[in-house]
Parts: sequence; C-alpha cells; structure tokens
Amino acid sequence: MKVLIIGGGGREHALAWKCAASPRVEHVYVAPGNAGTAAEPNVSNVAIAADHIDGLLEFARDVPIDLTIVGPEGPLVGGIVDRFTAAGMRCFGPSRAAARLEGSKAFSKDFLRRHRIPSASYATFDASDFDADYVRSQRLPLVVKADGLAAGKGVVICDSHATTIETARAMLGGSFGVAGQRIVIEEFLHGEEVSFIVVAHHQQVIALATSQDHKRRDDGDRGPNTGGMGAYSPAPLVTPALHQRIMNEVIRPTLRGLETDGNPYTGFLYAGLMIGADGTPNVLEFNCRFGDPETQPILMRLDSDLVELCEAGLNGTLDRTEVRWDSRAALGVVMAAAGYPEGYRKADLISGLTQAARLPGKVFHAGTSANDAGVVTAGGRVLCAVGLGATVRAAQRHAYDLVDVIHWDGVQYRRDIGARALAREA
Ligand code: AMP
Repeated sequence: MKVLIIGGGGREHALAWKCAASPRVEHVYVAPGNAGTAAEPNVSNVAIAADHIDGLLEFARDVPIDLTIVGPEGPLVGGIVDRFTAAGMRCFGPSRAAARLEGSKAFSKDFLRRHRIPSASYATFDASDFDADYVRSQRLPLVVKADGLAAGKGVVICDSHATTIETARAMLGGSFGVAGQRIVIEEFLHGEEVSFIVVAHHQQVIALATSQDHKRRDDGDRGPNTGGMGAYSPAPLVTPALHQRIMNEVIRPTLRGLETDGNPYTGFLYAGLMIGADGTPNVLEFNCRFGDPETQPILMRLDSDLVELCEAGLNGTLDRTEVRWDSRAALGVVMAAAGYPEGYRKADLISGLTQAARLPGKVFHAGTSANDAGVVTAGGRVLCAVGLGATVRAAQRHAYDLVDVIHWDGVQYRRDIGARALAREA
C-alpha cells in the first residue's frame, strides 16, 4: 500500500520512518517533508504545504494513496479529515468538530467542566466582556491562554494581577492575532507534567507508551518556553496505579463525552497532564495529534506495525489489536538553531550526520533542507537525536553520543534531558 504523511517536522520523519518499515507498505510520501525524510529508503517528499488541503487531496487521489496520516494540528483543525473522508479517502485523525479540543481552549475548558474531568478552574473572556475585577479576585500566579492555535506560544504565566491584566488586554488587542480574540484565564497548577498519548476510535482506546518532555529551552528547566527540547519514554512517574487513574478519570470520560456530544473521536489524542501532589491527573491541554518531540522516542520503542495500528483505528478494531513495545527506554535530545525560540537563524550547514548514522540510535530531522552544500538548518528545532538503552541513563548516553558528533554554527541543546527520570532511577 501507499501511505501519505502530512507535515514536515521531526514527528513526521518518525511517522514516515516507522510506516516505511511496515511489510505492507510499498512507498511513503511526505508532504512537504524535510531533508531527513527525503533520505529515508522507500520515502519521498512531495512539495505540497501541510495546510494546502485541496492540493493534498488532489495528490492523494492521483497516486492513489491508501492511507493518509496527518501530523500537525493546523490541517486537522482546518477539517482535512472531513474533506478526505467525503472524497472516499482513508485519512487517520479527528474530524474538524472533534479537533476543536485542541483548536479552541475555551471549547476544551467548557468540555472538561461539563464532563467533570480534572483541570484548572478558569474563566473565558473576549474584548467586550473582559473583567479586570475577576482577575484581581484570583490567587496568583495566573495563566493567560489565547483561545486559538498559537504554535505553542499562546500561554503566558503571570506572577502579578497587573501583568495578568496587561497580558490579557494585549492578547485581546491582537498580539496573537485572531487566536487571541478570546482568552482563557486559569488557575496555576503545581505538580509534574506528563504526556499521555492514545490511539482512539470513538470509545475504543489503546494507550501508547508514556513520555515526558522538556518545554523550557535551558538546562534546569530555565529560559523561555519552547515546542519541546527533548523527551523520553517511558515516564517513570506514571506507575500502573496512576496509569489507571489517567485512563479512568481523563481518557475514557473524554472519549465518552466527545461521543455523547456528537463529536466521536478517531486518531491520536494527546493529553498534557499536570500530576498534582495527591496524584490527581489535571488536564493542561489536549492535542488532537501525536506530540513532537514525544513521537520520536515513543516510535523508537514501538515494535508493532504503525500502519496496522492506524488502520485498526480507522476500522474500529482497536479492541482486537495488541501493541508491543521494546522494553528499553528511549530518549531524544532536540538540537535547535541559534536564536530559537525567537527569530532563529537558517541555512547553517550541518556536519557529522554521516558519522552519526554509523552509531546506534537514530537522528530524526525536523527543520532541515538539502542544497548543493549538503544538509542545512531550515527551522527552529532542527534535529532530534534518539538513543535506546536498558536504562534511561544508557539511552541518554547514546543520544548524547549522537549529539556530540553533529555540529553547526550556533547549535543549541540541553545537556540534561531525562534529569527527572534519572533522579527516579537513582
Ligand atoms: P498548554 O499549551 O496549555 O499545555 O501550555 C503550555 C505549557 O504551559 C504547559 O506545558 C505547562 O508547562 C504550562 N501551563 C499551562 N497551563 C498551566 C497551568 N494551569 N498551570 C501551570 N502551568 C501551566
């Protein structure tokens, strides 16, 4: 069969690599892909942007493509699955209506409250009803969130009432474009974050391996928030008892709620959770897709056929599907461009990729492109180097062995990916 992966980041490189390993797959196309997907055996790039739904549909019909897997949230929230399905094409992901769980924070907060799923208390405002007195009556710190998609940047944690009001007014005034026309102001939650990702079809669900990512740019969880500077799987924080609580208190009620609301969910569903001191799994956010960079270490551990898993999701046979995992830990270190996450530099020549390819583990590309000189940087997050090992310590060593042979001008990465898991291991 022929598979189309939509997107061009590290997540999509991992999805394409894993799909190409399926004995059932003849060829994988990635739109638009990156220099890493272009170099994978049985994978080729197609120069169509991930949000150009008409172009993607035309390509998928022409080939024809047997299965499309959508990486990023933009096309999902834009209704790509509805369009493909209406055209008789098999496309794995949630409908536009179900993807509102990520596409609108106000929708998702109202959904969580209605279905009594644990989450921070909140209020929603637009420019006409913003209430500074409400803000002044709340305990600090407070979190201000743009309602719509803001590429991971629409969340601001505020330590004073004045900054909260200022941030809220700036967002409502257009600092985040249309994404900030509505805002959510919520309670700040304490605890430890985990990523919990499942494959779902209506109320059928298979939990994937657990993972934890590192959102801050610098060592010791300092510096600005980013899309993620590294991740590892499994997350030792998620004991079997906590796993069960997350399934019973978050995942199952969410899938049930979506179905009873008339928006049944199919696809990868990502719950970003803050685990409180008493073990309560509070939902920070939902993503209607696989996480990036969590996908890279999670798929390194997946022994089962990813294509079969997505097909079972589409066919509604997840209850008869088993997923096998490599028992080893996987740890991925993101290598980012100079300046990331603000305006970052592009077109720096990357050295050491051939040497890295001879080492154990795998280097997934994110923001890269190829020109006559070789592979160059083309995005903020450039590569994710993933190691596998019997312990997190061993996986970490293999990941940094890869990182240590790769270089470009201004490269930045954290040296402490996996620190929390290592502390638990010790
Ligand atoms: P979100 O996109 O909503 O997950 O927010 C991005 C990041 O901001 C999360 O991964 C958390 O680190 C942080 N964050 C968001 N909401 C809260 C909250 N209510 N309390 C504490 N931290 C939060």
